[in-house]
Amino acid sequence: MPSNSPLIEPKASSSIGYTLYYGTFVHTPTLEELEICFNTLVGVTSDGEIDYIHKNYKPEEHDYMTAVHRNRNRHFDFIDYSQDPTKFFVPGFIDTHIHASQFPNVGIGLDCPLLDWLNDYTFPLENQFTDSNEKKLQFAKNVYSKVINKTLTSGTTCASYFTTIDPQTTNLFAELLLEHGQRGFVGKVCMDHNDTYHDYEESFEDCVHSMNSIINHLDKLNPSDDTLVKPIITPRFAPVCSRKMLNWLGKLSKTHSLPIQTHISENTKEIELVRDMFPDCEDYATVYDKHNLLSSSTILAHAIHLTKKERKMISKKECSISHCPTSNTFISSGEAPVKQYLYQDKINVSLGTDVSGGFDSSILAVIKHSILVSHHLAMKTGRQGDKLSIIDALYMATQGGAKAIGMPDVLGSFEVGKKFDVQLIDLSSKDSIVDTFEWQLPLEEEANQRKKSKQMQDLLGKWIFSGDDRNCVKVWCNGRLVVNKMHYQRDDRWVMVEKDF
Ligand SMILES: [Zn+2]
Repeated sequence: MPSNSPLIEPKASSSIGYTLYYGTFVHTPTLEELEICFNTLVGVTSDGEIDYIHKNYKPEEHDYMTAVHRNRNRHFDFIDYSQDPTKFFVPGFIDTHIHASQFPNVGIGLDCPLLDWLNDYTFPLENQFTDSNEKKLQFAKNVYSKVINKTLTSGTTCASYFTTIDPQTTNLFAELLLEHGQRGFVGKVCMDHNDTYHDYEESFEDCVHSMNSIINHLDKLNPSDDTLVKPIITPRFAPVCSRKMLNWLGKLSKTHSLPIQTHISENTKEIELVRDMFPDCEDYATVYDKHNLLSSSTILAHAIHLTKKERKMISKKECSISHCPTSNTFISSGEAPVKQYLYQDKINVSLGTDVSGGFDSSILAVIKHSILVSHHLAMKTGRQGDKLSIIDALYMATQGGAKAIGMPDVLGSFEVGKKFDVQLIDLSSKDSIVDTFEWQLPLEEEANQRKKSKQMQDLLGKWIFSGDDRNCVKVWCNGRLVVNKMHYQRDDRWVMVEKDF
């Protein structure tokens, strides 16, 4: 289905037929639950929706035509990876905190504390997106195409992005998301008093005008029957926003039913600054609450140094936290007690790369870092309970992310009625740096199911700790194949078998 804009053909809404996928599916439908489904058949409609799941499907005992007949599909594609134990499907990653405009700065600025890092590296770069018209559009196209391509090919099927204060390049970013086939929340950064870097700020009136233009533009861009890109209200963080702006953004979110994202309690100096600027507010979270910015559709990034009272408020308001361990380590911000947030405070926690505070744009890397940081925290506190498990981290990267962006029933796991936003992982892909040995593989003839599941969990460990984007060989968004790295493999024995009845 083409978008309402004559110029954009959204890749994730191209025409597809009914497809049956057969193989191993791994997901975390709830916190603490890892489900490994071997020999599973998943049917996906031409709308990209899962309409059929058959676990433990045995071709000799069952008839997959049931799924096909139910949908009156005479022609369908059958994609079978069941014979290769090093390949498995996992839900697409959801990155809940990433600055698209900062992509050129990845790996730059080590050891610079947050406020200096913003002035020395971030604001000068973001300011280039506000240049004269043609120059800034070219600059933005180059940077934004690269970051979308990089995240998508690393398995991120949906992300909540910050762009810059500039509306034209933000609109261009939304168009590029559609062209590449990635779902996205598009956050024009709102900031009207940047005391330490006045070159990069907007007036309140400009912000109102820009936000209205972006909301209208994105409305026209989406396909008529689907929402693939959506604006998200983005006050950068309290220190650079006037009370007038914070108030208006809180109202704007309500009027248009739009989600909100911002930063909170990343760095102790930042917290002091907020205390000085908002002396009437008891703490950082209260600043946002006072301006009606805390709700179940709010994503709070970092949230490292929260007080007990703030944690209670965030839990009560049902906000989600975006945990960014790569960035928190790179710019020495601290170790967020995520396990406590999840299990004691019952706060929904998701994962964010926080490019470019975070140097890696892959959520797989963030999964790894979240576990390592939690181990360091446990060594410091002496509490074993602070350690995150692979299941916790995978949950945050998928279903926790889906909850954070307000799509818990649409994305994040394999369920009938959900969208097929999925990655195919291949541990023996071309150039893979993962080594597996035959005795480690959950082979078909292995009768003991418990042993087979344990072997699969070990393979997940290998993927997470020694794998990278080279193991993410195919990516589907909205049921459409948007990344395919298997084109070049000569011995791809398991590629599509097309059936026609
Ligand atoms: Zn950030």
